[in-house]
Amino acid sequence: MRVAVFSTKSYDEAFLREANQGPAHELVFLEPRLNRDTAALASGCEAVCAFVNDDLSADVLTELAQRGVRLIALRSAGFNHVDLRAAARLGLTVARVPGYSPYSVAEHCAALILSLNRKVHRAYNRVREHNFALSGLLGFDLHGRTVGVIGTGKIGQCFTRIMTGFGCRVLAYDPYPAQAARDAGAEYTSLEDLLAQSHIIALHCPLTPETFHLIDRERIDLMRPGAMLVNTSRGALIDTSAVIDGLKSGRIGYLGLDVYEEEVDLFFEDLSDRVIDDDVFARLATFPNVLITGHQAFFTAEALENIAATTIANLTAFQDGAAGPNLVTLDDL
Ligand code: NAD
Repeated sequence: MRVAVFSTKSYDEAFLREANQGPAHELVFLEPRLNRDTAALASGCEAVCAFVNDDLSADVLTELAQRGVRLIALRSAGFNHVDLRAAARLGLTVARVPGYSPYSVAEHCAALILSLNRKVHRAYNRVREHNFALSGLLGFDLHGRTVGVIGTGKIGQCFTRIMTGFGCRVLAYDPYPAQAARDAGAEYTSLEDLLAQSHIIALHCPLTPETFHLIDRERIDLMRPGAMLVNTSRGALIDTSAVIDGLKSGRIGYLGLDVYEEEVDLFFEDLSDRVIDDDVFARLATFPNVLITGHQAFFTAEALENIAATTIANLTAFQDGAAGPNLVTLDDL
């Protein structure tokens, strides 16, 4: 099957080529991001392989379908960027990679927490300048602290195990509680109680219409003063302006982000010689207690291997007419 692979980076190409053995597909590697202007590049392809910041809105899907595309193979777990109703209407099949490595994201979340708490990002710069003073670097023991986990699916459960390993108490909120999370040590409670009690709050739920701006002004006011908020899930789970006000007032004591509401115009590109015209992002970057990474939580060798292998398996299943286990349908909304 001929497949247009959008938003290709060198590492995507390397892992996909390695996985594309046996009944190989014809992979057309394209650097541009998928949008209305670039959709024409998929002409002659039966499938499009897309990543998290590709545009899969109704207009783009319509253009793809008109050009003969029948399958959208996502290289991601999240599918919030796909208009599933339009895909169904156009007869497009959508497949994803549901659980490539929950460890990669959960461990990155822990890395953000440890770095923010012990100010590793600041200490690194100080030592490079031969400044060995400790003032301003005071942290706290994670042991005995309460960590709130919002969303206890694959990543939330893995993260729960990591935090209980540190000796933390883990409170959890999820509309669909999981016994596996309980077994990992999580105690389910209401969202309000979790916000009020937690020293650290980690977001591991998907972005849906219900979770859009889940962390808004009202919920920030419920948080413990000085709490740490970490988002490795999707940017629009938090209202960034409200979070900036929370940082200014001290209600939020630390913020760790791997995702950002408006990341489409920023992340995955080297913009180091450009002026960033996103004033909200620029403001976020000024806080000493904010640590931002550019959507790299998934970026481990194991995760990329799994993403590539599952993507190739999804293409093969579609080609063979099999439903495959990784289809995304309207029932997932
Ligand atoms: P999952 O489907 O296994 O778990 C998601 C959990 O969230 C489920 O238990 C679900 O019941 C719960 N949930 C749904 N609505 C909720 C709500 N309103 N409040 C609280 N919980 C709710 O998914 P996963 O594999 O654990 O991934 C979680 C998210 O992580 C993905 O949706 C994706 O957005 C994000 N992610 C980010 C990266 C990254 O690189 N930063 C990589 C992979 C996944």
